[in-house]
Amino acid sequence: MSNIVHVRPGTAVITRGYDPALSLGSARPAVFRSSTYVFPTPEAAARAFDIVSGRVPPVDGESPDLIYSRISHPNAEILEDHLVPLEPGATEAAVFNSGMAAIMTAFFTFARPGSTIVHTSPLYGGTTQLIHEFLEPFGVNSVPVHAGEGDALDAAIRDAADLCIVFIETPANPTLVMTDIRRAAAAASARPDKPVVMVDNTFLGPVFQHPIPLGADLVLYSATKYLSGFSDLIAGVALARDPHLIARLRARRVLFGNILQPDECWMLDGRLPTVTLRMNRQSKNAQRIAERLAGHPRLEAVFYPTLFRDPDQFRIYQSQCDHPGGIVSLVFRDGRPAAFDFLRKLQLAKNAVSLGGVETLVCHPRSTTHSSMTEAEVRAAGLSDGLVRLSIGVEDWRDLLADIESALD
Ligand SMILES: *Cc1c(COP(=O)(O)O)cnc(C)c1O
Repeated sequence: MSNIVHVRPGTAVITRGYDPALSLGSARPAVFRSSTYVFPTPEAAARAFDIVSGRVPPVDGESPDLIYSRISHPNAEILEDHLVPLEPGATEAAVFNSGMAAIMTAFFTFARPGSTIVHTSPLYGGTTQLIHEFLEPFGVNSVPVHAGEGDALDAAIRDAADLCIVFIETPANPTLVMTDIRRAAAAASARPDKPVVMVDNTFLGPVFQHPIPLGADLVLYSATKYLSGFSDLIAGVALARDPHLIARLRARRVLFGNILQPDECWMLDGRLPTVTLRMNRQSKNAQRIAERLAGHPRLEAVFYPTLFRDPDQFRIYQSQCDHPGGIVSLVFRDGRPAAFDFLRKLQLAKNAVSLGGVETLVCHPRSTTHSSMTEAEVRAAGLSDGLVRLSIGVEDWRDLLADIESALD
């Protein structure tokens, strides 16, 4: 055993959480595809079921024998142990077979019929639909608050009856409008019933934005995006400081059957050591490109955190984010035709939804990811028909800028 007790996240993600002795000494973990696990004795089987079902607490440091892969499996445990050090303040993680699965499981763990969820708006399209099509019919009231309206969010949190969840997605997609996590968490903790504060941290986490030290209870990810980083797998993650919250999510995960499968766990695990390298490069590229495009005559606006003009937005960015991140939105003066022309003319950047991959992806949200929003929602979200969202990759930024500028001209 090493006597180095405390290491930094970039070290821990490589050195912790995996014991080669349990995989015949292989330097990288094996993939354990087995659906079921053999017990050494019938007593061990009984004890494993007692612990997993919560009838008996594990004694210090005891981890029960594996039972069945819908409950957990070695590759999920290895991955979860590697995710924890990447999220400051977290003690436990749970992995899911998509970002939506993580969000859905969090909602159905903490929402009760008759209770209320307060959330920022706009949210990821799937999350919005989940609220309207499942939570509301299930008897949960939803109270949307426009991103960036801090006073309104405080009031909604203060005044909601039987508040179970405060759900924040920041920055908002695709305008990058930010919500002050610390302020929302303070409003939530002023309530005696202590709602669970959840942050969808997909856009800036785990590298540039750390919700748990700001007071959030649960951090959620579409690991499909930056965490995996190569646009080739679907996964979701939940992390928390309080291990009981994760234990409750895991209990639901067993019933919903939405744990991440062993092969995907193994793939995602191999991507974690480079997430900081990739995101730093993506953010530097995006910043250089956004700042050079600001003021371009064909653009009405460039949405990017270092270009925020609203003083409160700039304050939130500076106090909440280490770096501005890899997403840039351009608003064309000549609306959708100009946006579509731009998409047609790009040669290096690919026209696709999703984000966070090493390759630059560009999309027109109004006609794709945000096409099911009503006109009123679109206006409230500040989403214009001339807006194009860029997810900047790790290519050489000068080539990307040349591609973008020539498509603009
Ligand atoms: C992609 C995304 C999701 C959904 O994740 P999946 O992995 O596609 O299920 C949720 N929230 C945000 C912010 C996303 O970008």
